[in-house]
Amino acid sequence: MKYRKKPVVVDATQWFKNGDHPLDYSEDRTGFENDEFRTWSGEEAKALAWEGGVVRYYRSPNQPGDRQCQHCEHTLDHHGWIETLEGGHIVCPGDWIITGVAGEHYPCKPDIFERTYERATNQSIISQVRDEGYRAGYAQASMLTHDDAYIKGFDDATRQADGLAFTGLLCGIALATFIWGLWAAVFPSNC
Ligand SMILES: [Zn+2]
Repeated sequence: MKYRKKPVVVDATQWFKNGDHPLDYSEDRTGFENDEFRTWSGEEAKALAWEGGVVRYYRSPNQPGDRQCQHCEHTLDHHGWIETLEGGHIVCPGDWIITGVAGEHYPCKPDIFERTYERATNQSIISQVRDEGYRAGYAQASMLTHDDAYIKGFDDATRQADGLAFTGLLCGIALATFIWGLWAAVFPSNC
């Protein structure tokens, strides 16, 4: 069997250096400052140019930072590190970071990215939604009768609730009158 990938719209960003990913500073950081535990906002971490949260520093004790990368012309200390669903992965400057349908991040080489993805314009997103809507339309058409029943049922339930409320009001008045009568019988007023 042959399969065609479903057209999904994903977020992607090309990474060149620390801090390039738009979600790098989306979360607060905690740590110690002068022996005191404190929180830094994402904005503060960004201003301090700290290590990104999505693409981290590439650091390895057995790979010197000045060593040449085997995939690109940059040295390893200019690289990033990303956690993916399949484990950690090195990020070369120029790699694309894709955010998948489940919110997961993974790197993609620029040539693969170019062959697999195209810029999603508003028009292409609209036509994708329209196509999905068209397919879902058949399913929705058969649901219409159910929706009608639901609305009718809702109206009936509202009428029923109104009726119950009115009955409750009458019962309440009757009960109050009865209790007041009982009270008057037990403690007759001399006035
Ligand atoms: Zn590289």
